[in-house]
Amino acid sequence: MKSLRFVGREFQSESSVVKVGGVSIGGGDFSVIAGPCAVESRDQILSTARAVASAGAGILRGDAYKPRTSPYAFQGLGQEALDLLVEARAETGLPFVAEVVDPRHVEAVSSVADMLRIGTRNMANYVLLKEVGSQPKPVMLKRSRTATVGEWLDAAEYIYDSGNHDIVLVERGIRTFETSTRNTLDISAVPVLKTETHLPVLVDPSHASGRADIVPSLSRAALAVGADGLLIDVHPDPPRAIVDGAQALTIEEFEALMGQLRALESLLG
Ligand code: PEP
Ligand code: MN
Repeated sequence: MKSLRFVGREFQSESSVVKVGGVSIGGGDFSVIAGPCAVESRDQILSTARAVASAGAGILRGDAYKPRTSPYAFQGLGQEALDLLVEARAETGLPFVAEVVDPRHVEAVSSVADMLRIGTRNMANYVLLKEVGSQPKPVMLKRSRTATVGEWLDAAEYIYDSGNHDIVLVERGIRTFETSTRNTLDISAVPVLKTETHLPVLVDPSHASGRADIVPSLSRAALAVGADGLLIDVHPDPPRAIVDGAQALTIEEFEALMGQLRALESLLG
């Protein structure tokens, strides 16, 4: 792609490996990042963290700040959630990733989180991209639901050019005419990105589909198509979740999926 200077495969043939806490993303291992969409309570985040850690997840997800479509929807517990994530990490040893939605929150999140996430609604928020590019923690960059692969890589270029080279891309579905899923998982984007960029690529089957019933099959597809890992919503009681319950796996479903992924991984070699 003509506009790229750093993230294109032509500038670095070797695939990048991004270190999050002590965990590597890219470089051959399949990484599973799991947890609730939002931190809702101490009990919710601690019980989920313990369960996903024992099931084999390498990194915990859980948001303190939520970018909601409605201004009246739950916006996250903020600093209280960050404190709970720090407690969950101390207990389980799992590093954690949390979203930043506002340049004014970058310092607070960066000072405690192991990785910062830019969500679909902010992929083209260039002020925020430069801000996360100027702090030392790795950045997970989700695809805008309306961005082409080229526009997405241009967004990654903003972070890289601001000084932060630890970037992981997440395919989370795009807007199409289809209504049976929340978004349409663009599975083709994974092998396309593998040729276009050296950055690691994850798939988020939860936000892509909005449906827990098809998260396991999309997860297996992501592994088979060559993704470096998954970002998955897991909740101890999905019907009671404040945010995104319909797409969250229960702990039992997540444990079963991890078993399937291990079997598929050994089959694929
Ligand atoms: C999320 O991962 O919780 C999230 C808000 O995702 P997206 O930005 O892809 O909608
Ligand atoms: Mn969500």
